[in-house]
Amino acid sequence: MAKKATGKKKTQSKKSPVKSSAVKTIKKAAAPRTSSKKGYPKKDLEHFRRIILEQKKEILEEIATLRESMMDTSTGEYTGENSSYSIHMADQGGEQMEREITFLFASREGKYLRYLEDALHRIDNGEYGFCRDCGTLIDKERLEAVPIAQQCIECKTKQSKNT
Ligand SMILES: [Zn+2]
Repeated sequence: MAKKATGKKKTQSKKSPVKSSAVKTIKKAAAPRTSSKKGYPKKDLEHFRRIILEQKKEILEEIATLRESMMDTSTGEYTGENSSYSIHMADQGGEQMEREITFLFASREGKYLRYLEDALHRIDNGEYGFCRDCGTLIDKERLEAVPIAQQCIECKTKQSKNT
C-alpha cells in the first residue's frame, strides 16, 4: 500500500505543479467578492429564473401592444403625442425604425425588460440575490415579489429616505 502510494506520487510529481495551479484558478473564479457568503442554491435560482422569464414574456407582449398603439400600422407613422416629431421622421424609414426602438427602450416597459435581462445575467454568473450595497442575501419573499431587486429591504429603505 505504502509502496504503491509512493510510486503513484513519483509518476504524478511531474504533472502536479500544473494541476495545482489549475485548481487555484478554478477556486479563485468560483469565489468572487462574497467568499464567506453563499448564494441561493440552484433549485431556487431556477425558480427565480422562471419568474423572471414569465415577466419577460409579459413585458414583451406589452411592448408589442405599445408599439402598435404608437404606430399607425397602415401608414407606419406615429400617432398621438409624438405626432409632431413623426412628421419629420415619416419619410426616413430606417431611421424612424431606429427611433422607435430607442423610444421603446426608454419607456417604462423597455427599462423593465432590461432589468429582467440583467437579472437573468446575474443568475448565470452567480451574482443573483445579493444586495449590491451591503452584500447580504436578499429575502426569498422579496425576490419572488420583485425578481429584479438588487437591494435588500434595509438598503432600499435607507436609500429612499435619503432621496
Ligand atoms: Zn443591503
